[in-house]
Amino acid sequence: MTDCIFCRIVAGQIPSAKVYEDEHVLAFDDIAPQAPVHVLVVPKQHTAASAQDIREHDAELLARVFLGIQKAAAIKGIHHSGYRVVTNAGPDAAQTVFHLHFHVLGGRRLTGHFG
Ligand code: 5GP
Ligand code: ZN
Repeated sequence: MTDCIFCRIVAGQIPSAKVYEDEHVLAFDDIAPQAPVHVLVVPKQHTAASAQDIREHDAELLARVFLGIQKAAAIKGIHHSGYRVVTNAGPDAAQTVFHLHFHVLGGRRLTGHFG
């Protein structure tokens, strides 16, 4: 999808600070970090716009995304200190990019609040 920012990042048409990449997954720094470490982890395929769009056939890909999250956390050095994984789905979550993605937030003690 050429009009999707994250597809364009995956294609290398928009630059990003790459953290981790494999055949299925790309992880890169969020352009507007909300924590000392704020990585976005996306499936390279535009398989779903949000978590609400995930279907049975995405099951294996989702596991690969979570393995990519672990890799990105280790590369950033927060795999022991811990991190939060967030995905926004739809208007009340203030989702702005409609290519499934997971925010990985860490590097400081996060509060217990979600909104
Ligand atoms: P959402 O609100 O949809 O869950 O999150 C979208 C995220 O993408 C935001 O945190 C925003 O800062 C990030 N973002 C938007 N455009 C770009 C971009 O061009 N490059 C990078 N690295 N992050 C982006
Ligand atoms: Zn996309």
